[in-house]
Amino acid sequence: VRGIDIIRNPHLNKGQAFDLKERQVMGIHGLLPPCILTQEQQMVRVMANLKKRQSDTDRYVYLMSLLDRNERLFYRTIKEHVEEMMPIVYTPTVGKACQQYGLAFRRPKGLFLSINDAGHLYEMICNWPENDVRAIVVSDGERILGLGDLGAYGMGIPVGKLSLYTALGGISPEQCLPVLLDTGTNNQSLLDDPLYIGLNQKRVTGQQYDDFIDEFMEAVVRRYGHDTLIQFEDFANHNAFRFLEKYRHKYCTFNDDIQGTASVAAAGVFASLRITHKKLSDNVFLFQGAGEASIGIAKLLVLAMESEGVPHDEAMSKVWLVDSKGLIVKDRPKGGLNDQKLPFARPHEPIDELADIVKSIKPTVLIGAAAIPGVFTPQILQDMASFNKQPVVFALSNPTSKAECTAEDCYVNTDGRGIFASGSPFLPVEYKGKTFYPGQGNNAYIFPGVALGVITCGVKHIPDSIFLRAAQKLSTLVLEEHLAEGRLYPPLSDIQNVSIKIATGVADYVYRKGLALTYPEPEDHEKYIRNYVYNTDYERFVPKTWDWPEEK
Ligand code: NAP
Ligand code: MN
Repeated sequence: VRGIDIIRNPHLNKGQAFDLKERQVMGIHGLLPPCILTQEQQMVRVMANLKKRQSDTDRYVYLMSLLDRNERLFYRTIKEHVEEMMPIVYTPTVGKACQQYGLAFRRPKGLFLSINDAGHLYEMICNWPENDVRAIVVSDGERILGLGDLGAYGMGIPVGKLSLYTALGGISPEQCLPVLLDTGTNNQSLLDDPLYIGLNQKRVTGQQYDDFIDEFMEAVVRRYGHDTLIQFEDFANHNAFRFLEKYRHKYCTFNDDIQGTASVAAAGVFASLRITHKKLSDNVFLFQGAGEASIGIAKLLVLAMESEGVPHDEAMSKVWLVDSKGLIVKDRPKGGLNDQKLPFARPHEPIDELADIVKSIKPTVLIGAAAIPGVFTPQILQDMASFNKQPVVFALSNPTSKAECTAEDCYVNTDGRGIFASGSPFLPVEYKGKTFYPGQGNNAYIFPGVALGVITCGVKHIPDSIFLRAAQKLSTLVLEEHLAEGRLYPPLSDIQNVSIKIATGVADYVYRKGLALTYPEPEDHEKYIRNYVYNTDYERFVPKTWDWPEEK
């Protein structure tokens, strides 16, 4: 390889960090400014550059072009500035970037597989220039965050998620493959958008769509093996649950919107118990929304109660769900109860309005995941505070513009007694002379660690119990001092360490249960996992040289 090819290769390029010897030997001397920098100095420049940009979308574009140029610098920068960077490479900015992906798109960072290519997916996956992909995040773009159908613009999500696999989970970038399955879009404004990068057609559905997804799964396994982790991301509700059931016992797969969300939200609930000093089953959970997020969380909480010895029916009776037609009750005149909702339909009179439902059910924990902004009104929050000493309120809908209420709304309307977490980040709130730190129930606390554990241990299938383990582990990593400030999650800046601890927890569990294929079992799980973690240090390109003894 010539030097010029190395500086054009983002895996290898280190910009001005090539030293004098390297520049001379590689034949690139003069192609770079004479000033030689360390990676630390380069990072300072990146941060200065970011500061200068006008908007977070500009920052997103800048960071993506850094990723195109110098991968290690990109990951080092994210790793060391997690709190500042997460809202850019992930929610909320990634949502805005997806909406304008036609403008943001630079170089390919993932595979676009379109329905026109059905029958040839294996060949196309072979075009991907890496031989050892261990993790795939795949979306068909139909339900991007709470923003709806963004078609091929949805590629920003698999790219963003996998960048967190690397930055937080330490899975090396060569082992990560973002995939966008383009089966069309039903979003008319995209079909009318001259910048749209996807197929200009309505979504293909039915058997043809299902066959396409089947072909994709088979092609992945044929190319990269049965133990390749396939994360489903931002599929529409009707497909997400179906595919999870269809594939979970056949492939190494999970759905982050259902299971990852469930795990991170459950961790927040577990942590809240350390503040309220309640047992899990002392609570009454009310969900605004009965989709992927809510059903996933509800099921995992039920599993958690059962694992504490609570009988199934009793556990189910603690959970209430609300969908677009109101409270989910048995024999609802308005109907609309699919297989997912049906088990949660409770004997109760139908109620339509959330305000009335809250008054009647008196939940201790109120969780919003219906992407209806502002639906947790001051009145509802005040009611929560009237029948709870410390009401727990999770406004999970993303991005920020979709949140059920702001952190401030929650603290102000509960007299500072509310325990709050949200999906997108909120700044700390000053109220009555006290500073409150809202928790961010971000899936990024869970999926990188679970993925790291699954990949390193060679887990064949991923049972829900792994997500329960991960949630329990995460909740134990919240320190008393965090709880005292109202935080339900460890600080984001500690998230790589959190990921390693979660991965270790997964490893302990899967080896104990005989679910791990990696053989022989490593003696020290944490050490084994830490050794695997991607290193952002630059390679040195000048090989070691030596002289022969003088007299020869
Ligand atoms: P989904 O599967 O499409 O579910 C949306 C649910 O909201 C459906 O059950 C829908 O009711 C319900 N809904 C719609 N309008 C409503 C209304 N007016 N009143 C009550 N319920 C209503 O979507 P999802 O995957 O669950 O995601 C929902 C939101 O959660 C998104 O904003 C997403 O970004 C967010 N989320 C956050 C996190 C996180 O913070 N960690 C993780 C995942 C998702 P029907 O069933 O009647 O249609
Ligand atoms: Mn998602």
